[in-house]
Amino acid sequence: MANLGIPQNTIAILQKYNFNFQKKFGQNFLIDTNVLDKIISSAQITKDDCVLEIGPGIGTMTQYLAESAGEVVAVEIDKALIPILQDTLQEYDNVTVINDDILKVDINKIVQERNAGRPIKVVANLPYYITTPIIMGLFESHVPLKSITIMVQKEVADRMQVGPGTKDYGALSLAVQYYAKPEIVANVPPNCFIPRPNVGSAVIRLTRYDEPPVQVKDESKMFALIRASFNQRRKTLVNGLGNAAGLNVSKEQVLQALEQMGLSATVRGETFTLEQFAKLSDLLGE
Ligand code: SAM
Repeated sequence: MANLGIPQNTIAILQKYNFNFQKKFGQNFLIDTNVLDKIISSAQITKDDCVLEIGPGIGTMTQYLAESAGEVVAVEIDKALIPILQDTLQEYDNVTVINDDILKVDINKIVQERNAGRPIKVVANLPYYITTPIIMGLFESHVPLKSITIMVQKEVADRMQVGPGTKDYGALSLAVQYYAKPEIVANVPPNCFIPRPNVGSAVIRLTRYDEPPVQVKDESKMFALIRASFNQRRKTLVNGLGNAAGLNVSKEQVLQALEQMGLSATVRGETFTLEQFAKLSDLLGE
């Protein structure tokens, strides 16, 4: 089968099957061999790896993954793509295509069945409309993972990588950085896709930590605090957290905890580090 990273080959397949792009599924197919090579090398795929690909499309990156990985499981929601994938991936016996919604499949079960529960790598050119739920789902359901190497909207890649005090810093930055080390490995312009997206893209690699970089007594309490802080970004932490529904903390308790941390009563969440959120969560839990 011809390399689909070459634009003419992708166009030939789209014409052969009279494929109609579905905007609602975030379909932008990669047509750049350099970007594909870069994704595979950044993900450091070897024949020892079992790779989960989210949204294989017509199978462009799947071909590259099948060449370098031991096994590939690709989950695609659009049933119109399934016969195309059977065609474009016919020469590979190490690829399994599952026609399903990645937000509904039991990924832990796939890892159990396909890789005996050993950590997998996730590699994907993600559908941008569900980037955050996909990443958070992988981390929060504790799927055994080595790394996640993904194409996302440039702005979202920036949000995952930045630290406190910048406009992009928020709940996604903290959540990602609690679980993994983020590194942007490439910026990718719209002309590397068909059709062209109207935003810039970036490839980011998230390398899962064996142990989180901070210790916290109650992880879910810390994340509830983080979400509440950034829901009310413009407010001080005392006002934002003291008002937040479902948190069950008073302004006085927040004030007291900040005092114990040696911080001013007027601090905002956007200046708080992961360590500080962990400390605040522990103090409020006492
Ligand atoms: N991997 C291909 C490539 O790089 O050319 C396609 C990438 S395209 C940006 C995203 C793919 O994800 C599409 O094939 C789309 O149909 C699929 N997709 C969208 N939502 C999905 C979901 N909830 N579960 C699984 N696949 C999904």
